[in-house]
Amino acid sequence: MEELKNSLNDKRLQVLTLPEKGRCLFTSRDFSPGEVIISENPYVSVPNKNKESPQWKCEWCFSSANLKKCSACHVVWYCSSQCQKSDWKLHRVECQALSKVDKERVKSLTPSIRLMVKLYLRRKLENEKIFPSTATENYKNVEALVSHMSDVDEKQLVLYGQMANLVNLILQWPDSEINIKEVAENFSKLACNAHTICDSELRPLGTGLYPVISIINHSCLPNSVLVFEGRLAVVRAVEHIPKGTEVIISYVETAGSTITRQKALKEQYFFSCTCPRCIKMGQSDDIRESAILEGYCCKNSGCNGFLLRDSDDKGFICQQCGLLRDKEEIKYIVSELKLMSEKASLSLSSGHINEARKAYKMIEKLQVQSYHSFSINLMRTRETLLKIFMEMQDWKEALTYCRLTIPVYEIPLSFAFFKYYISLFHIGMYPRFHPLLGLQYYMCGKLEWLLGEVDEAVTSLTKAFDILRITHGIKTMFVTDLLSKLEEARAEASYKLRSQMED
Ligand SMILES: [Zn+2]
Ligand SMILES: [Zn+2]
Ligand SMILES: [Zn+2]
Ligand SMILES: [Zn+2]
Repeated sequence: MEELKNSLNDKRLQVLTLPEKGRCLFTSRDFSPGEVIISENPYVSVPNKNKESPQWKCEWCFSSANLKKCSACHVVWYCSSQCQKSDWKLHRVECQALSKVDKERVKSLTPSIRLMVKLYLRRKLENEKIFPSTATENYKNVEALVSHMSDVDEKQLVLYGQMANLVNLILQWPDSEINIKEVAENFSKLACNAHTICDSELRPLGTGLYPVISIINHSCLPNSVLVFEGRLAVVRAVEHIPKGTEVIISYVETAGSTITRQKALKEQYFFSCTCPRCIKMGQSDDIRESAILEGYCCKNSGCNGFLLRDSDDKGFICQQCGLLRDKEEIKYIVSELKLMSEKASLSLSSGHINEARKAYKMIEKLQVQSYHSFSINLMRTRETLLKIFMEMQDWKEALTYCRLTIPVYEIPLSFAFFKYYISLFHIGMYPRFHPLLGLQYYMCGKLEWLLGEVDEAVTSLTKAFDILRITHGIKTMFVTDLLSKLEEARAEASYKLRSQMED
């Protein structure tokens, strides 16, 4: 721990242990927006393969291109001999272990099991000095992570026990070298400390353990953001962070009501957030925020008021015009939506794209009649429709839906209904530089350009660049690509303008 503290000191960071929060990371100098606060390679990592991300990926860099299977174990894939070489120190021993396991069983190994096997192998290799232990790459940093074993329920504990036995079966170590109870506890550590590794567009690629970055605490109003450059985790400041400030990122999607965020944090991370947004829970502006994000809209379609449950429990009352929306009607809508959603997601997951499109269009129609226009549920449906239209290569419809999802991310900037959102504006509902907003503008710009709307494309790409240069870093390939697209679009726009003037 002392070693880690010294190494962080060199980076002008400080680890403090506070009684309420445990370990926290503080700055010991100012950081400006877009500046890297800390970056870390994973102690261990593993690619995911699931419904959202069905391709095989390189074990080292998570790329899906030019993959070749390891000819010895037939479990892991590499995109290049460079990646295979980089992973060899650990995979050499993992490969031996995996080769001994029954073929059918190997196929069913989950990423969590594989990650745990790798964690124990790495610890062993570190003890044998094959991996050097440094201040930041050290099993001691894994030991220092919180586990929350006492908060885990009985069922989960049994599951962790079974998973630990499976790890033991794969490793085939003598009893003196492995402790099943400790493996089970490490599974609970992974559950609240491992990070989902995403690509630049925030699509999940895998899971990694970053014990130093795990020190960073959560806030629903973060001053920093965590993004990945391949396997490297990078934390960047999204606002000016003065010396002596705690570095905070958001562990959960910040677009959600306080109750939703608190629930997500409690379920996965076992704590109650006390950030400036959360301490407002139950106060009038928090109630209003929830009613807008997750509540119903007024029966009068011309009214944009938000609805609150009435005291007689007859239904929900519009806070602007006083109109009542009956409880039974809401109940009916909720059950209809549930049925429709089940059908729609089934069509989507089974690849019936046209049916999925029709089903989600119907859901959207019903949600527009039922939810507030800034509803998160409505936005999620529209995001799904955006994905569907992208897959169908219907760029025009895709652009329509891309544009429709943006206002929800921009609530604090929306002055159209300022009267209601003035409080949100003050709280700052989302950080000013929300990576998702930047990505949404990027997609919008690309679609506009494709459809020949050059001026609009310049506007969207500029907005995307302003956000993503802060969250993703100006020197990354992702942002360099964006910048060259923007410059090309600008050149085309000015060419268009010149030829119009000449006419
Ligand atoms: Zn690779
Ligand atoms: Zn292998
Ligand atoms: Zn919070
Ligand atoms: Zn109304």
